[in-house]
Amino acid sequence: MDKRNLWVIFSLILVILFVFNVFLNLLSPAGNSSLIFLGLSLSCILFAYYSNDKKASNIFVLSSSVIMILFVYFSDIDIQKELTKNNIPPTFINYLVVISFNGIKNFSLKKLFLSPGVVWYITFNYIMIYLISIFNRNYGFVKRKLTESMREIRELKDELNKHKDVHKAISDYKNKIVEISSRHNVLKDFASEIGSSFEPVEIFESIIEATKKLLDAKQSMLLIFDKNRKLRIKNCFNVPDEMKKNARIDPSEGIIGMIIKNNTLITSENIEKNFQLTELHKMDKVNIEIAAPITGEDGNPYAVLVINKMNSPVNKEHIRMFSILLNISALSLGNAKLYKKVEFMANVDGLTKLYTHRYLQEFLSEEIARAGRYKRPLSIIMSDIDHFKNFNDKYGHQTGDMVLENTAKIFKASVRNKVDLVARYGGEEFIAVLPETDMKHAYVVAERLRKNIEKAEYMGEKNEILKVTASLGIASFPVHSSEKMELIKKADTALYYAKENGRNQVQIFDGEKMKIVEQL
Ligand code: GH3
Ligand code: MG
Ligand code: MG
Repeated sequence: MDKRNLWVIFSLILVILFVFNVFLNLLSPAGNSSLIFLGLSLSCILFAYYSNDKKASNIFVLSSSVIMILFVYFSDIDIQKELTKNNIPPTFINYLVVISFNGIKNFSLKKLFLSPGVVWYITFNYIMIYLISIFNRNYGFVKRKLTESMREIRELKDELNKHKDVHKAISDYKNKIVEISSRHNVLKDFASEIGSSFEPVEIFESIIEATKKLLDAKQSMLLIFDKNRKLRIKNCFNVPDEMKKNARIDPSEGIIGMIIKNNTLITSENIEKNFQLTELHKMDKVNIEIAAPITGEDGNPYAVLVINKMNSPVNKEHIRMFSILLNISALSLGNAKLYKKVEFMANVDGLTKLYTHRYLQEFLSEEIARAGRYKRPLSIIMSDIDHFKNFNDKYGHQTGDMVLENTAKIFKASVRNKVDLVARYGGEEFIAVLPETDMKHAYVVAERLRKNIEKAEYMGEKNEILKVTASLGIASFPVHSSEKMELIKKADTALYYAKENGRNQVQIFDGEKMKIVEQL
């Protein structure tokens, strides 16, 4: 305890005791010297003990002795008696006046210093101070040692706590490393899975799978543009069927519209913190935890990826993972697009936009196999423009190209879309493959083709009207052959027969006579 505080406290105790005793003395003239003696002594002992300062304690004893002397001195006065004797009213001021007056009147040095109470008081307290100082010295040593030990224990405890903290931090890091490495593995698997596919549908599936594994999504969706430039759910996780079917989102509205326009990523936190975004989000038909467009190199969005619900609040790691997911997805979708383009270019003829000879071979093999499996017919029509060499020579190669381009269009328009296939077999030779079609039905198609080719008119360089005709040959599976090359060969033979037979006609393969169709 602070020494100055001790002085103040004990001085106060002294004053209180003194005043208290004066009043006790008034009530009982026999006096309470024993009480003031004990009170002051207790103060001295406590002071000596707590201050642990011998000099200050001595001063304390001396100063309190003065009070003791005063008390002893005044305690002899019978105030009550003096008051009644002189007929003075018993007020506090009068008490003090009587005490002072009688005190001065009865003052005697001998009485003052040789009072047994005072001598006892001083002697007793000095002995106590001496004993306390010895006690404090010994006890102080023990106390110091004890304090030192306590401090060491405390330091050890702190050290231990620090170790515990370090241990916890290490195990936290370990857990984090395990978590990151498992995420890394998921990411690696995702990247290799998505990278090996050129099918957008498979890529979309992988993206949604990754939202579950990488981002702990509780609900997610991938939106793509439909023909009317509205966004529709293409793939999703945990989305109600009703919403899956009916959700049509305007790509210029709400937060979704904003992220498409600015090509940016947004989180629920961004939305909550910004009043304008909060208002904008009210227009959205779906909840957003994290969302961003998957954008191609040209800056156009392929799709919009939305995480609608999360199992845990969105954190920085989620945003990092989401961004990686976006980049990988954009790359894969870009590759898929490129692949489709290359595939298309490899399989489609530049001038006529018909399938190439190579693609025809693949298609025909598959279709013949299918037809064989299901015991269904299949026909092929082979056509060749009549006297085309002459046409080229007469009207120029460019006009010839124009005719080829248009004949290709006639072919495409005359067969069933998505079922039949038309390919450019050679220079001006086209083949149509007609699955599920026997030779009679193929004949109808071929005749329609022939007539349409014959009907078409072309403007020559000299503004003259030009026309061409074509000869066509038909062979059918399984009647003419079950083998691809033989089937093509037989269609070619029928075509050859049509040429031989006068051109601008359709011939069905007939091994024996190659009879003309009208006779069938
Ligand atoms: P035929 O009635 O017997 O079929 O007589 P043809 O002159 O058409 O004979 P053939 O079919 O052998 O001739 C093919 C001609 O087609 C040769 C060539 O001038 C022309 N041709 C082939 N490819 C192209 C092309 O890409 N553009 C143009 N303009 N002409 C081509
Ligand atoms: Mg030819
Ligand atoms: Mg020809």
